[in-house]
Amino acid sequence: MLFVVNAVYFAVAILFILGLKAMSSPVTARKGIMWAGVGMVLATVITFLYPADNGSGLLFFAPGKTINLILTVVAIAIGGGVAWWLGKVVKMTDMPQMVAVYNGMGGGAAALIAAVEFARVAQPGGHAEALSPVVATLAVLGALIGSVAFSGSIIAFAKLQGIMKKTWRLPAQNTVNVVLALVAVALGVAIVLLSTSPALPVLLVVFFLLALFLGVILTSPIGGADMPVVISLLNAFTGLAVGFEGYVLGNPALVIAGIVVGASGTLLTQLMAKAMNRPITNVIFTPITGEAQAGTAIEGSMKEVGPMDAAAMMRYAQKVIIVPGYGMAVAGAQHKVWELTKVLEEAGVEVKFAIHPVAGRMPGHMNVLLAEAGVPYDMIFDLEEINDEFPTADVALVIGANDVVNPVARTDKSSPIYGMPILDADKAQTCIVIKRGKGAGYSGIENALFYAENTSMLYGSAQQAVGDVIAQMKTLV
Ligand code: NDP
Repeated sequence: MLFVVNAVYFAVAILFILGLKAMSSPVTARKGIMWAGVGMVLATVITFLYPADNGSGLLFFAPGKTINLILTVVAIAIGGGVAWWLGKVVKMTDMPQMVAVYNGMGGGAAALIAAVEFARVAQPGGHAEALSPVVATLAVLGALIGSVAFSGSIIAFAKLQGIMKKTWRLPAQNTVNVVLALVAVALGVAIVLLSTSPALPVLLVVFFLLALFLGVILTSPIGGADMPVVISLLNAFTGLAVGFEGYVLGNPALVIAGIVVGASGTLLTQLMAKAMNRPITNVIFTPITGEAQAGTAIEGSMKEVGPMDAAAMMRYAQKVIIVPGYGMAVAGAQHKVWELTKVLEEAGVEVKFAIHPVAGRMPGHMNVLLAEAGVPYDMIFDLEEINDEFPTADVALVIGANDVVNPVARTDKSSPIYGMPILDADKAQTCIVIKRGKGAGYSGIENALFYAENTSMLYGSAQQAVGDVIAQMKTLV
């Protein structure tokens, strides 16, 4: 039986790794999700049938396991049911919040595994053997990291959902963070050393409360453009915690899943931090709050353009580069944008899409929306691939994007987004920006592009505005 279990775990590991590999390209990403999903179902089923602590074989035939069986089935039904329903109803724009919640659940579950293992040892009159020093150390590390990931992700969810609107910083926040982290580590060491002492329950409660509080105060000051990096970092934390607890339980599938999530989360965090030119230490210790950090004031005024003029500028252009952003997602304008693209191509205009790595509210947000609308992958270009082409474009059409095309990131050293690589839409011959009003982007910073000589603003919700442009364009022969 053990051979079968391990063989299934091995197959699961291969499915996870192949799934992740396939997710690296939009062409194969759907297949990758399916493979990883099948792997997860297999891992859950085999663990359900043959749990690690059940020496007598199949769970169903183990005496005295009835209560666990009922609880397990109820837990799987509730967790699976809620996830199924949320997956169906969640809007594309709310996806980052959902990722934050799921990520938090993973971290919390890892921390709970450690709590259960220690609680078994601490139980008065309990017969559980003390954990070996290695297992106890990994359990404590997983508990610390998992608790931070849990409470940090809940705060990230509250911020992205707009429930928590303010970012708050304690006086001497960084010192407080470091001191609390050191106290939590000291408590963790005490738990490992005193794992058979009667003081263990008290130590555990204080340790978990402190670890949860640490997650809250680490994430609370972070906001604005740093949010995607934080979510990715917390995701890496969850992976690490799950990997550690997998070792504690002796469950290879958990170890592998944890390592895969931890490693990919770390790489993604690095890539995103690089895309925003923000070292991870800056994200945590000197975050952009979006408040009172506006940089140098921008002079001048915005010029408005109507749908007819915008249509003519693009219809008679040779090359148009479209830069989509969060506003396109909120408006659900991707289908209209694809329709506009087809009209332009029929008129002989070359059209390309430029995607910034943090456009929208999650990595790949724009790629997913454009793919859903039917835009072919070979029309979509990353920042490094397309930035040099903006000077050769007659029109850069910015649709609901703001921070990712803000030239102050290149020019204003006092701006909090200084140094973040941006799409050089301002370098096109002319630039048309579609947005509803004069409001700032996610980071709360004014955008110099909107005031530039060669920029015209087309005010309106993206779907309606692009529809108006298409209608006008069709009247031009
Ligand atoms: P921004 O949030 O900077 O700007 C979006 C713009 O869209 C706003 O200026 C808004 O202006 C406009 N808008 C909103 N609704 C509509 C609508 N219905 N029709 C037309 N326009 C609309 O988006 P970007 O994509 O440029 O930048 C992403 C930002 O989000 C970055 O700061 C990034 O760091 C951050 N972020 C990214 C994440 C990621 O993983 N990609 C995750 C979390 C945050 P107006 O109100 O005037 O219409």
